[in-house]
Amino acid sequence: MAGQKDVIIGIDLGTTNSCAALVDGEQNGVPKVKLIPYKGGEFTVPSIFAIDDKGNELIGYEAKRQWQLNPKNTVYGAKRLVGRTFRSDIVETMQKVVGYQVKPSVDNKEVVIDVAKKEFTLQEVSARILNKIRDVASNHLRVPVHRAVVTVPAYFTDRQRQSVKDAGKLIGMEVVRIINEPTAASLAYGVGKGLNEKVAVYDLGGGTFDVSIIEIRGQVFEVKATGGDIFLGGIDFDNAMIHYILGEFEKKTGIDLSNDPVAMQRIKDLAERTKIDLSAREEAPFNIPFITMTPAGQPLNIEMRFTRKLLEQLTVELVDRTLKIVARVLVDSGLSTQDIDEVMLVGGQTRMPVVQERLTKFFGKVPSKAVHPDEAVAIGAALYAHSLQDDSNLRLQLLDVIPMAIGLERAGGGFHVVFPRNAAIPNAKQITATTSTDNQTELIMRIFQGDNDMVTRNEMLGEFTFSGIRPARAGQVEVEVTFDVSIEGILTMHARDPATGKEMRTTVRVTQH
Ligand code: AMP
Repeated sequence: MAGQKDVIIGIDLGTTNSCAALVDGEQNGVPKVKLIPYKGGEFTVPSIFAIDDKGNELIGYEAKRQWQLNPKNTVYGAKRLVGRTFRSDIVETMQKVVGYQVKPSVDNKEVVIDVAKKEFTLQEVSARILNKIRDVASNHLRVPVHRAVVTVPAYFTDRQRQSVKDAGKLIGMEVVRIINEPTAASLAYGVGKGLNEKVAVYDLGGGTFDVSIIEIRGQVFEVKATGGDIFLGGIDFDNAMIHYILGEFEKKTGIDLSNDPVAMQRIKDLAERTKIDLSAREEAPFNIPFITMTPAGQPLNIEMRFTRKLLEQLTVELVDRTLKIVARVLVDSGLSTQDIDEVMLVGGQTRMPVVQERLTKFFGKVPSKAVHPDEAVAIGAALYAHSLQDDSNLRLQLLDVIPMAIGLERAGGGFHVVFPRNAAIPNAKQITATTSTDNQTELIMRIFQGDNDMVTRNEMLGEFTFSGIRPARAGQVEVEVTFDVSIEGILTMHARDPATGKEMRTTVRVTQH
């Protein structure tokens, strides 16, 4: 393996499972990618972190194995929370469906998780999962791994991308580049094939949904439009089933199981397994013995049958939501369904037959089987990592976009858009800000990302303060403010008073304030 000393691996840091890969040689001039196996031959590591009753930290399979018995101290799906401010509605929604405790940090700005009476930030949880994958890779390759390309959902905000980079820093690993998951999947599909195609990547994983329309021209991968929902994934399909099961049980016995964490965990586990079974067959039993006791001390069981039809009915609204987003992204891309040459399926939840049927109807063609739904993202990350390696001949050009508008708060709470959604990145824009009061010394700008007209409905990225403004009458001082969005979708701001030459630069982040 060339250049193994300084190898850059590709990491798919998934909501439910994570996976690492790297390029290992070439075949007919095309880089060959190898997935890094975990012990036992699995290629994925569950993205789960736990602390057991002896205080040991467990990550991956070890954490998953004890999940049923220790739901309060077992963190899963943390990726959905990374980079979120506490006030965000998403955190509230999340708290309702997870067994562990999500709460605000002391300064009320960040989200922290309580595990075995210790507080962890989401970056710390992600860092532990990244560390596990890095260890697996280092052991397998027998060289320490210090650098990685890490994928994130296309629909991640600037802050969420920053958080993943920060998680890398916490463990001394350089996240050399963040790339979007659907874009990575398109690399797995298109690198080395000399294609000239427009593809739709439909990525429905454990916790997030993304769709990107990508034009492939040889080694150029240009994202035309992207969209998604970071609160829509396999977990929500499980929750729809769980909700139904709890309702049926309560109807029959009068007992509400939702406050019994161990019972809930057993139901969650079997719901997911049954959901997966129903992708391969029409019917499956759903039996859990001794789920609880009657007040008189008599044990009760859950005994039900699930059909594929029932699962489809319970989750139809979720599939509808994905297709609405696909339709919008297609409009944003300026293309129609006939223009799309291939529809690619990524993420485990796309194995559900009805998802494939609905997509076939929507696009008028059967989705491609050319990429492996669980592996494509890691493979794409590895290919991109390889292209960044000094000794590589692979030259890839990724032209991506921002998933949601970035802009400033206007007086009155309106949103002044600086970059509209789907603006190409890297990208820079300059605006001129003027003082609004006499002898104003500071210019404060609050930066948001989202597609709503009111900033309160968008995610706050941070506050940018340009201080030391020279004293003058209102409206007399003009400051040039430059917004720079990097190739990774991360915003840096830079302000300059042209009269004095005073400058200031910062990467926008809430935690600095
Ligand atoms: P990922 O994040 O891509 O690993 O996706 C994992 C999600 O896919 C989980 O919610 C799984 O329950 C779901 N999943 C995996 N296999 C299947 C299957 N055969 N049918 C339906 N859902 C599946």
